[in-house]
Amino acid sequence: MEEKLKILVVDDDEVDRIAVRRALTKAGVEMELSEVGDGKSAIALLNNATSYDCVFLDYRLPDQDGLSLLQNLRSNNIRVPVVVLTGQGDDQIAVELMKAGASDYLSKSRLSSEILGQILRNTIRVHRAEMQVALANQQLRESNSLLIRKNQELEAQRRHIELQNLKLIEASRLKSQFLATMSHELRTPMNAIIGFSQLLLRPKCGELTDKQQDMIQRIFNNGKHLLMLLNEVLDFSKLEAGRLDLKPEIFDLSKLVNATVQEMRSLAEEKNLSLLIQIELQNLVVFNDPTRIRQILTNLLSNAIKFTESGSIAVELKEVPGNQVEIAVCDTGIGIAPADLENIFEAFRQVDQSTTRKYPGTGLGLPIIKALVQMMGGNITVESQLGQGSVFRIQLPRQISSSMQHGADGASNTHASAKKSFWKQENSRFAQEGLQNKSRDR
Ligand code: ADP
Repeated sequence: MEEKLKILVVDDDEVDRIAVRRALTKAGVEMELSEVGDGKSAIALLNNATSYDCVFLDYRLPDQDGLSLLQNLRSNNIRVPVVVLTGQGDDQIAVELMKAGASDYLSKSRLSSEILGQILRNTIRVHRAEMQVALANQQLRESNSLLIRKNQELEAQRRHIELQNLKLIEASRLKSQFLATMSHELRTPMNAIIGFSQLLLRPKCGELTDKQQDMIQRIFNNGKHLLMLLNEVLDFSKLEAGRLDLKPEIFDLSKLVNATVQEMRSLAEEKNLSLLIQIELQNLVVFNDPTRIRQILTNLLSNAIKFTESGSIAVELKEVPGNQVEIAVCDTGIGIAPADLENIFEAFRQVDQSTTRKYPGTGLGLPIIKALVQMMGGNITVESQLGQGSVFRIQLPRQISSSMQHGADGASNTHASAKKSFWKQENSRFAQEGLQNKSRDR
């Protein structure tokens, strides 16, 4: 061993102490040796902060025996390796000493430099290995209790989040219920306002001055606009709750597209926009919900007209592989920046979210279209270039699944849960942004 070892010899017999010192020196041990003659002095030294690499302890000391001294050391948690030097015939005692924690023992009669050197090296090696194991164990225990604590904290956080989630779900359910009830309740008086103003406009109801006629026409137009907004909110809340069912039937798609485009023509003409239809369908018949297809097309067309200042709007109808039909609405309008494209299908998302925005709207049109198209088993895509225009493309199966019309069977339940999961994603955004947008729109 090249390092300098701190060694303590505890023996009341000076001759024996000298013998140990000589043997160690002869064995080539580099050391700083301390010697004491009784147990009390040994304990006092060992209790001191200075740590020893090894203690050679005479079993028979004047004030106590080696066993009790050893026990004393261990109970005071002094973890120094102790080699006990015994007299002849003390074998049974040696066994007791090892049990009490001695590192080794040696009969004084066998004391030689080789044996003592060997015992010293082994003892120190074993002791250091034990210390490392104890340290590793201690670290393991510490990280284990740290992990347990972290786990408890995580579990508490999980329970907290779970509770918050339940509260959010409940709040969202109440919000949807409120939206559905309000828009439903508002529709009834709104229909009366529209109906009576329409009646007043008929010549049968008596002569009106131009000013009166103009005012009633405005009541009628605004009433219709408000009803359209209410219907959007009602559809949105129904879709969100998975309560909107499709009513598919067989119909001529080209006829429906033509009729819808004609209804929108006056709006396009007001802005001097040409409105074109291109139908390339071999088979004109589809099985789908005509009311909802009309709603989708009307929404896309009114967006195209709203966001186009000059040029044209075109509706294209064609067959696509996989027994699908495609309806495309193309415009030469303001276009949408690439960064905004991914957001426009989210509820209440508008490219211009400012209060002074030029184009009115609820931001519900595209989310409703997307949800309806998904319910039909189709998909919607958009290509757009700022300042150039946009193309909204809808691809739908020629024949949608008829199970979508009844809420009771299994397929429809799966379908309803798909709808719910779509709206679940929208829910949190709705909660965050909905109220904000609504107050802005007012
Ligand atoms: P809105 O009621 O605002 O029209 P939509 O959900 O229908 O709501 O559309 C969301 C946003 O997508 C619009 O506010 C607009 O910014 C953008 N957008 C939709 N269609 C077009 C289009 N044809 N051209 C340009 N931007 C469009």
